[in-house]
Amino acid sequence: MEHKEIISLLRESDPRRLDRLWDEADRVRRRHVGDQVHLRGLIEFSNHCRRMCGYCGLRAENTLLERYRMSEDEIVAAAVEADRLGYGTVVLQSGEDPGLDTQWMCNLITRIKRQTPLAVTLSLGERDEHELAAWRQAGADRYLLRFETSNRRLFDKIHPPQPGKTGDRLAVLRRLGSLGYEVGSGVMIGIPGQTFVDLAADIGLFAELDLDMIGVGPYIAHPRTPLGRTADDEIGDDQVPNSEQMTYKVMALARLLCPAANIPATTALATLNKVTGRELGLARGANAIMPNVTPTKYRRLYEIYPHKVCIQETAQACGACIRGRVESMGRTFGIGRGDSANYRRRQGSRGQSIEDRG
Ligand code: SF4
Repeated sequence: MEHKEIISLLRESDPRRLDRLWDEADRVRRRHVGDQVHLRGLIEFSNHCRRMCGYCGLRAENTLLERYRMSEDEIVAAAVEADRLGYGTVVLQSGEDPGLDTQWMCNLITRIKRQTPLAVTLSLGERDEHELAAWRQAGADRYLLRFETSNRRLFDKIHPPQPGKTGDRLAVLRRLGSLGYEVGSGVMIGIPGQTFVDLAADIGLFAELDLDMIGVGPYIAHPRTPLGRTADDEIGDDQVPNSEQMTYKVMALARLLCPAANIPATTALATLNKVTGRELGLARGANAIMPNVTPTKYRRLYEIYPHKVCIQETAQACGACIRGRVESMGRTFGIGRGDSANYRRRQGSRGQSIEDRG
């Protein structure tokens, strides 16, 4: 698909043409990844972070936030619960936690792998190469790192680099692929200062990076962040709205450009539309959902953006809610790990994952 065509679809407002986009995304999803919806149990195990991302409530400067880091036993118990609830994957997510010890993380991954059949996905921010390699060696299967925007100026504005370093997430994503991880990335939609040209370039980059997983979500302003406190009207009509509809457009286009990727209907989307956000996401390209299995006492503290859904519910209640929503659409559940079809294709001749090699 041409860059110009992507821009035109992002700007589209005709309901009939949008219906055609949703239908096409749904058709491509069915043909390439089927009707199964993969459930990934999300454990937000630490809200410590050394970074200062302009939009994020976990940023180091937010001293009003109570910080926590779950113990190894608590995390393993949550993973066992995810397995008991029938999920095929556990996603270990944290801020870019400076207290995260490489070997501690290796031990945790090994323990989860010994005690459950789950695939392990990591989402721990920009980490050093030796850490990524060690965790892969310990058995981690997948890594999620959103590049957020391909516009370097905008990226630097919202992601100040660590002192003495220049962040290059695209290089990290390529390295993750060469380490054998299933690689996921994505963007934030409607960042103040993000143009339609920027967003179209981001979507083109999904295909260029040959991503196995694509997670996109709307920018939601957090009042305790620099971005959440500033006016967002610097570029007038070129500004991408951080709307629900724009999020569906990006998901649908991601499906068209990366037909075999796994694409979740995200919690941020459900935050914008609590009633049918996830269902509409699944009907417009998505094939995965990440029910939260973090112990409820920690959930409200993982506040990247405000008014998140699924803060009070137990893991069991979240699982039942999601299952009901998926079944009401006539979709089925993925059995087992739910590896990305794109990853399987990429790996094909290169052999199997560490786990499969035993
Ligand atoms: S987006 Fe991630 S790296 Fe940035 S401040 Fe938030 S938790 Fe930290």
